[in-house]
Amino acid sequence: MSPENLPSVIRHWIGGELVDAADGRTFDVSDPVSNTVYAQAARGTSADVDRAVAAARTAFPGWAGLSNRARTTILYRIADAVEARHDRLAAFETYDTGLPITQARGQARRAAENFRYFADVIAALGEEAFRQGEDQFSYVVRKPVGVAGLITPWNTPFMLESWKLAPALASGCTLILKPAEWTPLSASLWPEIFAEAGVPASVVNIVHGIGEEAGQALVDHPDVPLISFTGSTDTGRHIIRSSAQHLKATSMELGGKSPAVVFADADLEAALDSVMFGVFSLNGERCTAGSRVLVERPLYEEFTSRLAQRAANVRVGPPSDPATEVGALVHPEHYEHVRNYIEIGRKEARLVAGGERPSHLAAGNYLQPAVFADVERDARIFQEEIFGPVVAVAPFDTEDEAIELANATQYGLAAYIWTSDLKRGHRIAHAVESGMIWLNSHNIRDLRTPFGGVKASGVGREGGAHSIDFYTESKIIHVALGDVHTPRFGAAS
Ligand code: NAD
Repeated sequence: MSPENLPSVIRHWIGGELVDAADGRTFDVSDPVSNTVYAQAARGTSADVDRAVAAARTAFPGWAGLSNRARTTILYRIADAVEARHDRLAAFETYDTGLPITQARGQARRAAENFRYFADVIAALGEEAFRQGEDQFSYVVRKPVGVAGLITPWNTPFMLESWKLAPALASGCTLILKPAEWTPLSASLWPEIFAEAGVPASVVNIVHGIGEEAGQALVDHPDVPLISFTGSTDTGRHIIRSSAQHLKATSMELGGKSPAVVFADADLEAALDSVMFGVFSLNGERCTAGSRVLVERPLYEEFTSRLAQRAANVRVGPPSDPATEVGALVHPEHYEHVRNYIEIGRKEARLVAGGERPSHLAAGNYLQPAVFADVERDARIFQEEIFGPVVAVAPFDTEDEAIELANATQYGLAAYIWTSDLKRGHRIAHAVESGMIWLNSHNIRDLRTPFGGVKASGVGREGGAHSIDFYTESKIIHVALGDVHTPRFGAAS
């Protein structure tokens, strides 16, 4: 069933107005349950990006010139406006992405929290001062970088958009957002949210379109000095290469193949719940998914068979059904990508659960969560990001082997460690190559903490002060307080 007020046209938002693409072109938007086209979205090109950048440049001095307190007030109003649309957002997100409704319901609160949090950060923000005795005093001023380009993926699209919009706006940047083309629906709520909150026209501009067209035009635009990107590693590499032309600042939140390392002394029930949720929530389309599970040998058979039982029991169904645990994968192309990995996995390892379309769901991008056991480290399903409800399980015998296996991929986004031996837990946490570790805990975020990955999982950190650092330039101003003793070149008689 389609949600109420479902738009059949999704337009750009440029200069405070909803507009079609300059050349009038559109692209199809479909839902993942019926895979039928329900809307046409404006297909942005460099002409649209040029208009959006021009608008954002005009708005920049006014927005950047507001006091932090004034921006804070507006950010709080944005958060309220997001929360007021809680039900509509959840319905849109579920319909467009295939995310189960129970998981989509949390997205408005998380998005609102991003605005409140970054409002608080800038309200409390001070700038540093340095004193050299009585002689010199230096102080830092932070200036917003300018027009920011924000490029986002299709998994939890609205929340990830807010994760960039909030710190960019808090910092005083104006911006262009390019949402993912498979899931533009929830972004159609932003214009009314920003208008209601009193964000001046042209501060936020949204250009929809295909990555290689609208996204690339944003990356190539000389008046956009900063690109914040969340998406796949290959696209990230490409964007860094393109950004070199104009020496843009880039923040890269990329793919992952995160390990969950389970020792035999772990709290088994807690570890099992966390491993299940970590890889199968959000349909497995989660950058920090614990998609490789490494289990200490004495627990291996039991853990693997219980994981398989639980995976076989997962309720796959319509995303709108509150009983559904795994919904429909976002797009037929992605569905084929994931199913292709299931076929690869069948040749590489032992499939112990799932991997098939559930028999009661004849159409739509549905897949029973798959568990592969005895996966070797050079297997493609161990090495490559699948980004769906598929988990690779492998045994280990020693702590060193656990670390080695955990580090045996190109990625380094997150890791989860389960052990009752806290000394060992910390040792492993230090040795695993990843930006984020959860020790005896599942993926709970604290917005003050750095978010990001190492190796092929990203460059830079967002979250807390890191985001403000990214969206602002620090300028140092040195002031002499006492007499200035400068060598007197050319003063000799
Ligand atoms: P993607 O790289 O295909 O697309 C992401 C965005 O980039 C989209 O808006 C797309 O239109 C745009 N894009 C594509 N080509 C472009 C180009 N040449 N120039 C500019 N923009 C371009 O990724 P996706 O399939 O949408 O998302 C899934 C990926 O995102 C996974 O790899 C996942 O791990 C990653 N991800 C990472 C994080 C994180 O925080 N590290 C969070 C969520 C998702």
